[in-house]
Amino acid sequence: MKNITIQGINWDEKSSYQRGPAKAPQLIRAALHSGSMNMYSELGARADEEGIKDAGDFDIDDYFSIEGITAKHLQDGGKVLTLGGDHSIAYQVIKAFAGRYPKLDILQIDAHADLYDNFEGDKFSHACPFARIMEEGLAVRLVQVGIRTLNPHQSAQAERFGVEVHGMRNLDLSKVGPFKNPLYLSLDLDGIDPAFAPGVSHHEPGGLSSRQVISLIQNLDAEIVGADIVEYNPDRDYKGMTAFLAAKLMKEVLGKM
Ligand code: MN
Ligand code: MN
Repeated sequence: MKNITIQGINWDEKSSYQRGPAKAPQLIRAALHSGSMNMYSELGARADEEGIKDAGDFDIDDYFSIEGITAKHLQDGGKVLTLGGDHSIAYQVIKAFAGRYPKLDILQIDAHADLYDNFEGDKFSHACPFARIMEEGLAVRLVQVGIRTLNPHQSAQAERFGVEVHGMRNLDLSKVGPFKNPLYLSLDLDGIDPAFAPGVSHHEPGGLSSRQVISLIQNLDAEIVGADIVEYNPDRDYKGMTAFLAAKLMKEVLGKM
């Protein structure tokens, strides 16, 4: 039986451009349970099967409290799926995972590398989480897919931390993986093209298709112990289409976990 806890993290204070992702978790759930879709992933797993618990959404006042909330949900030996929130939450969530999994691989889907040493003076900005994660050695391997915004600073940071970057230019998804260690999947919705996912703060054209991301998830040959779906911004969404995409991805990720 599965042992997965879903947690929603209502947090967007580390967003650099627009706020909105703090409202995301309940809207992704609402899409999932709207009656528009059934509960099955394409591979036949149910998103509401026994062993998948929903811990609800957490209003966050203190950024650093996210680690403790996640650690609590990891305590009974289970896996955790987090609905964000902006991407800054990944540093705190993965800190909790590192306490349990000393050898962790990370697969990040994103338009951005999020490797800034600091962004506008903030080391905990949503543009920085993977710099903090790699500095602290919280992951053995960081593999990024969908990247299309590298500047010289972030290229240098990627090199410094040994990040494997699969950029959109010349992308070959068959070269992603395999993963040896327990895998954490961090899914920033802006990795997907804004034509498919308009409900994100940073529109970065030239991204992944919904299908490419679903196939990437389905073809993962790894034990997924944790995942997040972040950066959904309902203020920019069009008729909820990004919320429905997030709900679909949630089913596919839960099914693989
Ligand atoms: Mn990101
Ligand atoms: Mn991004």
